[in-house]
Amino acid sequence: MSAFGITAASPPEIGRTLPEWEAFLASFPTVADAICAVAAGESVELFSNEHAPVCRRVLISDSEPVVQDTLYLDMDLREAVLTGLLNHGDPQAAQAVILGAMPGLVPAALWHDDVVCVSEASTGALPRFGYRYTLPLSGSMTWADVESLSEPFMPLFEALTYGLDGAADADSAAVGLLRDAGLPVVTCAACGRFVTCRHPEWPGVWVCLDDEDPIRCTYRHHPPGSVEEFDSIDIGTPHRPEPAVAGRAAAAVPLVNAAPRVTR
Ligand SMILES: [Zn+2]
Repeated sequence: MSAFGITAASPPEIGRTLPEWEAFLASFPTVADAICAVAAGESVELFSNEHAPVCRRVLISDSEPVVQDTLYLDMDLREAVLTGLLNHGDPQAAQAVILGAMPGLVPAALWHDDVVCVSEASTGALPRFGYRYTLPLSGSMTWADVESLSEPFMPLFEALTYGLDGAADADSAAVGLLRDAGLPVVTCAACGRFVTCRHPEWPGVWVCLDDEDPIRCTYRHHPPGSVEEFDSIDIGTPHRPEPAVAGRAAAAVPLVNAAPRVTR
């Protein structure tokens, strides 16, 4: 059992019949095709986020062809890590803390010593964090051979892929681990979401990482469906960082503009 309540008995198999995988295999029907393409300077890379955010890259490393598979942190754990990174105030130091803590976020029995924890620059404002294994390739291999070589890593990847729904278990154990490692992960005392007051677009306002409404707390004081809830939706309330945790974060790294404020 992991910090996320994950067991090895998770649903099997990341699909290989998705459009992005079909397009990849149409472009590179054989491993030899992929090796030739990358040797010619072409980017051989596939990103899929249908079941989980994963990336397969074929590269030349030390003059030898390799395949790298990376599974990125997602969902609640991603929000915990990225809000903690913003709260930390020193992105480089925070990344080192996160990378050091990541092995402890997966079930110890499923950990594989050949997996490395990585951070990558993204196309957005925040980095990606992921678990990666690298396998040697040769032109005589088939993609089925690559899948066979990947087998030892699948229990770990599947546990992370399908286990993150157990966020209730994850919050206390995994967040505790991240905090103990030195990452100021702050939760809202009302809604439980991970929040930061150092968001690049809303500095000084406690927000969560939500596409639709990061500023307004989703916690409702009134019974769902009641007229009081109906009336209060228009105004909403700000997130309320759990005082003790926010205080520890502020003590670890002084926060600026930390007071919640309501934007007009
Ligand atoms: Zn909230």
